Amino acid sequence: MRPTSDFQAIVAPQPAKPIAVVAMGGHAFMRTGQPATFDTHLKNAAEISARMMTLIERDYDLVITHGNGPQVGMLMQQTDIARDQVPTMPLDVLVADTQGWLGHIMQQEMLNQLRRRNLNRFVVTMVTQVEVDKRDPAFLAPTKPVGRFMSEQEARAAAEQHGWEIVEDSGRGWRRVVPSPRPQRVVQWRMIQDSARHGHIVIAGGGGGIPIIKNSYDDYVGVEAVIDKDLTSGLLASSIGAELLVILTDVPHAYVNYGKPNQQALGAVTAEEAEKLVSQGHFAPGSMGPKVQAIQSFLKRGGRRALITDGASLELALEGRGGTHFVGRL
Ligand code: ADP
Ligand code: MG
Repeated sequence: MRPTSDFQAIVAPQPAKPIAVVAMGGHAFMRTGQPATFDTHLKNAAEISARMMTLIERDYDLVITHGNGPQVGMLMQQTDIARDQVPTMPLDVLVADTQGWLGHIMQQEMLNQLRRRNLNRFVVTMVTQVEVDKRDPAFLAPTKPVGRFMSEQEARAAAEQHGWEIVEDSGRGWRRVVPSPRPQRVVQWRMIQDSARHGHIVIAGGGGGIPIIKNSYDDYVGVEAVIDKDLTSGLLASSIGAELLVILTDVPHAYVNYGKPNQQALGAVTAEEAEKLVSQGHFAPGSMGPKVQAIQSFLKRGGRRALITDGASLELALEGRGGTHFVGRL
């Protein structure tokens, strides 16, 4: 018979490690000005994977989410050009496509980095669906520009032909707009949590997740919409009981008076201070706004700490020497 102490060692639950959710911007794979090639994506995936190792070395269980704006835009353009020759896939399927190939290169580069450091972890990408409410007001007023830029004439013709809503996008041309409903539930949250708790690195919620609704028969169906990746990351982080939410973007801090002469980097901010700064309009809608909103809802639902910074500052920021830190109840 097995000695009791040995048996206990086997059945005793391991003390849970803290889970960190790290959200990468879609531009992390393709910075402004870089060519939109596969090589660019791969090189950036390798760089960001190397930076992620600091979280593994600090003994976090790790879940990575990412944006897909530029990538789903390219797919929409390909789909559009090939419309007469290949059947067109709906937007939810294109989001799923980007989760697949971006997950593939992140898996590859994370595994390469782990091997170089003799770290023994598995990496998996979860095709992640996110339930949205079919009564979400976003479905009545699409606001999120997606895909390629068009002339007004071309956009009007496309709108007529495909039933698209279109909009003039900040002086840069005309684009299709789609609804951006609020994420309600990450359908695969439990599998993401289980895998992370076993020490596996999980890539999930790519592009904000694949939007699905429940129809009047309570069946799931995909919808032509996109979900904000920051809001989904915040929701996922609280659903799986993450301790830390890191939002990696292309600026080292969140700032007050951003872009003005009196701009000032934020060091540490409490949940109450964040609320005040939001009400003063410091965080632009569609960019920094949803990041701070995601952090607020994470802290409200039991999250302890959140961080906004860029890849280059991540390591220093984790030591408390960089980035913008948000803390909930102490
Ligand atoms: P991501 O792909 O990481 O989501 P976004 O472009 O959506 O990137 O958001 C990051 C951008 O937010 C920054 O490049 C900056 O231009 C903008 N921004 C707006 N308000 C602020 C602010 N208060 N502090 C810092 N950046 C801000
Ligand atoms: Mg963004």
